[in-house]
Amino acid sequence: MALLDKVFGKDDKKTKLRQEINSLELRKESVLTAINGEITHLQGERNNILLEAGKTAYNAWCKDNSKADLTEFWSKIQELDGCIRQQEEKKATMGNKYDEEIRLINHNLGAANTDSFLYCPQCGTPIGEKDMFCQNCGASLK
Ligand SMILES: [Zn+2]
Repeated sequence: MALLDKVFGKDDKKTKLRQEINSLELRKESVLTAINGEITHLQGERNNILLEAGKTAYNAWCKDNSKADLTEFWSKIQELDGCIRQQEEKKATMGNKYDEEIRLINHNLGAANTDSFLYCPQCGTPIGEKDMFCQNCGASLK
């Protein structure tokens, strides 16, 4: 009976870990999709400004063969390029953060499968099955 309890307890743990991985993957996808949407939006704005700059330059040329001052357009584009870079960096950072969390849970799942001990999701230190807190970093292991 004690053995059965232990086996079922372990399966529960594995199910919980799989659920955690699933929910992290869903969250990662929705975060990255939102950032991609923002990047697409910024790129659309950038294209519109380029188009406006082109129209302004062309109109000036048609009117009296003069050169329009396009400085304002270029500085807006520079600003947008900065925003796009920020979003790209955020995308990479968030992607890595989720991947790392998923990797650690997968590691714990592997450990649960091979009957060896588990690891702290926070710092990777081996932990006992009944530990409430990590002895290394103090993370809650409930
Ligand atoms: Zn720890």
